[in-house]
Amino acid sequence: MTQAAASIPAPIPVRIPIRQIVPWAVLVGLLALIALYFVSTEQGAASVIANHYVHEFVHDGRHLLAFPCH
Ligand SMILES: [Zn+2]
Repeated sequence: MTQAAASIPAPIPVRIPIRQIVPWAVLVGLLALIALYFVSTEQGAASVIANHYVHEFVHDGRHLLAFPCH
């Protein structure tokens, strides 16, 4: 039993490059928040883009995610 355990090589720790990941994580988080805004809030008085093109484009997503719509 001890001979089998001795033949297994020790695991090498993997370095996670946090400084390289953080800018991409911030960018993806920002894009996710923008997408969430357009799906959840882009309607009526809170509308940033005139007409209802964005609202109609994400309309099924609104109902899928249970945001109130009409
Ligand atoms: Zn609706």
